[in-house]
Amino acid sequence: MAQIYAYIVHKDGVADDSALELITAAQKIDAGTGVTAIVTGSGENLDRVCNEMAESYKEVYKIDNDAFAYPNAEVIRKVLVNILPGDSIVLVPHNTFGMDLAPGLSIKMDSAYASDVVDVEGMDGSTLKIIRQEFGGQVSTHVNVDISGGAVITVRPGPFAPDESKGAGGQVVDKSGDIGDVSAKRKYLETVVQEAGDVDITKSEVLVSVGRGIEDEENIEVANELAEAMGADVSCSRPIVDAKWLDKSRQVGTSGQTVKPKVYMAMGISGSFQHLGGIKGSPFIVAVNKNPKAPIFQVADVGIIADILEFMPELTEKISEG
Ligand SMILES: Cc1cc2nc3c(=O)[nH]c(=O)nc-3n(C[C@H](O)[C@H](O)[C@H](O)COP(=O)(O)OP(=O)(O)OC[C@H]3O[C@@H](n4cnc5c(N)ncnc54)[C@H](O)[C@@H]3O)c2cc1C
Repeated sequence: MAQIYAYIVHKDGVADDSALELITAAQKIDAGTGVTAIVTGSGENLDRVCNEMAESYKEVYKIDNDAFAYPNAEVIRKVLVNILPGDSIVLVPHNTFGMDLAPGLSIKMDSAYASDVVDVEGMDGSTLKIIRQEFGGQVSTHVNVDISGGAVITVRPGPFAPDESKGAGGQVVDKSGDIGDVSAKRKYLETVVQEAGDVDITKSEVLVSVGRGIEDEENIEVANELAEAMGADVSCSRPIVDAKWLDKSRQVGTSGQTVKPKVYMAMGISGSFQHLGGIKGSPFIVAVNKNPKAPIFQVADVGIIADILEFMPELTEKISEG
């Protein structure tokens, strides 16, 4: 079995939650092979992430260069091709950056590519059996991937439990001298910080989150009333922001905010991976949806099959009676 590598996404010296989830995915591919973390960056923040990863990974490749001060998939692709053996299995989180990095990496490494993997069934010879989801999560697809010539696999954040065991006592290996040319056509210009909205949903303990099931802008008020009765804040899925019914600062998801509430009420939200990717910290998820097959029910602690336009006012009324 070829060596498995996990690309670690991090920001401001803090590793993304996906870092520990990739260990679990790697162990499902081959429990016997240790996994090597690859951390690119520069300065103190890089050291902090490398040391943190050494608690969980047996080996950590540290790649320190000013070219990595900002995420630039073009440069990182070059570096990975230079330092990794051609038959490597490279795991990358299926987030915005991973989706930029991974397809081109598989082409440059001339290896197999599997994206948005939600589960690993195991190995059969040189065939890796994985599960992906299609049609917005309504269909699970079982895919056989020939990994004899290596593979780049993007792993969906969430479905793999993080490996919290720690205590790996891993070794940090400085690979900065081996990376070769880091020139790139793509240049970093600036970071545009998102404007703060009226409510900071990243700090909310209870969220009443509305999706397309809310049907009409006028019905947002129904969610506002429930949130007020519960002492919660209102958040939403992306279509609600696209329709301009709520401000962008209230959008939960990979292209919105990352929230860590104690309770997440998903009202008329189907449960796309882009939406779920913004929910961290294992909150208690209550999903209300009129479609019993909605993917949100796979991650919900409590699932209620109901029309939210009937359910929300009724719940508000009951809470207000008390
Ligand atoms: C690059 C990219 C980034 C993205 N980033 C994000 C992101 O950050 N956040 C995000 O949310 N999405 C994001 N998306 C969009 C994402 O793919 C989904 O399209 C979106 O999450 C779907 O939102 P939804 O669940 O509200 O709508 P839908 O998928 O349309 O689901 C609506 C649900 O409501 C239910 N429903 C309808 N009427 C009722 C009713 N009366 N009562 C109860 N249930 C009802 C339906 O059964 C359905 O399950 C992104 C997409 C891309 C391509």
